[in-house]
Amino acid sequence: MNERVGAVGIASFRKATLVYAGALALIATLSMITNVMVDAIVQRQEATARIVNISGRQRMLSQRIAMMALELAQARTAEMRQAIGSDLAVAIDLMDASHAALSQGSKEQGLSSDKSADVRAIYAEAPHQLNGQVTSYLDHARLLIAQPAEERQASAHLNDLLASAHGPILQGLDAAVKQHEIESETSIRSLRRILLTLVGMMLATLAAEAIFIFRPLFRKLEAAHVKLLDAARTDPLTGCMNRRYLMEAAAREVARAKRSGSILSVMMLDIDHFKKINDTYGHGVGDEALLSLVGTVLGNIRASDMLGRIGGEEFAVLLPDTAEDQAGQVALKLRESVEALEIKSSAGHVFKMTTSIGLAQLHLGEEDFLAALERADKALYKAKQSGRNRVVFYTPELEGAAGKGF
Ligand code: GH3
Ligand code: MG
Ligand code: MG
Repeated sequence: MNERVGAVGIASFRKATLVYAGALALIATLSMITNVMVDAIVQRQEATARIVNISGRQRMLSQRIAMMALELAQARTAEMRQAIGSDLAVAIDLMDASHAALSQGSKEQGLSSDKSADVRAIYAEAPHQLNGQVTSYLDHARLLIAQPAEERQASAHLNDLLASAHGPILQGLDAAVKQHEIESETSIRSLRRILLTLVGMMLATLAAEAIFIFRPLFRKLEAAHVKLLDAARTDPLTGCMNRRYLMEAAAREVARAKRSGSILSVMMLDIDHFKKINDTYGHGVGDEALLSLVGTVLGNIRASDMLGRIGGEEFAVLLPDTAEDQAGQVALKLRESVEALEIKSSAGHVFKMTTSIGLAQLHLGEEDFLAALERADKALYKAKQSGRNRVVFYTPELEGAAGKGF
């Protein structure tokens, strides 16, 4: 029966461990996905920041190119024209390269070539046609540089450049930045929603683990602990203290008695001719007799007294705060109660039994429980020798008598 209970306990423990491992794996997976999501959000934000930066610089470059083109047309000396022309060429190349990076993507600048349909439309289709706008803008600037100096002031290229600088090219660049920002915000919002859901799932898993795994597990462990402790302390047949636990509890009680200066008595109790009961009715009936005896003893002692099974049909009772004469009264009452007891076995046998009892008092301040128990045992031996079914107090004359020893 106990083994079966143990097996069930281990099986449910294994099940709980499996569920716990599953929950841990789920949390680990969720936190890994969360990590990836956080990375994705950060990357997305960085990419948008790069696009916005470069697009902002394109705006500035477009205005600088227009300004330098005007300065180039109005420059009076060949030297000035040379200096402005080369600055203008640098700005044109930079704007050209940046436009290529923005529209087609660039690994070095961390810009993706993956564009949404709306962004592609801004670059390729009306009304903005940013690709065409930028190309023709830069073409006009390059053609202006290539023109002879005297033709530049009235150049159609300069006029087109200035007209575009104040309108279409700026609108196209602004539209691209805005579209990038809108798309980035939308995707970050949805990533955040997923992130929040993941964190919620993790918290829910943790809470479920605490409620459905740990709480019952701790309760089971606690119950198992109590059961184990109980099993380690009690005699399985009679349910009273076993010898080891009685010794432990008695040692504590003796220490307490020594501190408080109280008197403590010890009783040894043994069923008379118990062998005969076993021989006559069988071992099972003998067991029932032992249970009846324990019931009778417990019915006659105080709650603070301690009953333990020392051996087969021998019991010891520790009586705290009890002098020998009071203990003697308890012992007599016990002996009479057992003698009066009519045992009815489950098999229908009806019989009686008697007990012999030895009593001793603990000498304050000079010994331990075992010494008093040995004296009570000597008194018990004397009770057996004197005809059984009696109570004998220990006296120093019994010292020579053979006790069993503990
Ligand atoms: P005495 O009056 O001298 O005490 O005689 P006794 O027969 O009671 O004592 P003895 O020590 O000769 O025999 C004790 C018997 O108790 C022997 C043993 O088989 C029996 N016994 C020990 N433990 C148990 C038990 O748990 N159940 C049963 N049924 N019998 C037990
Ligand atoms: Mg006996
Ligand atoms: Mg015995």
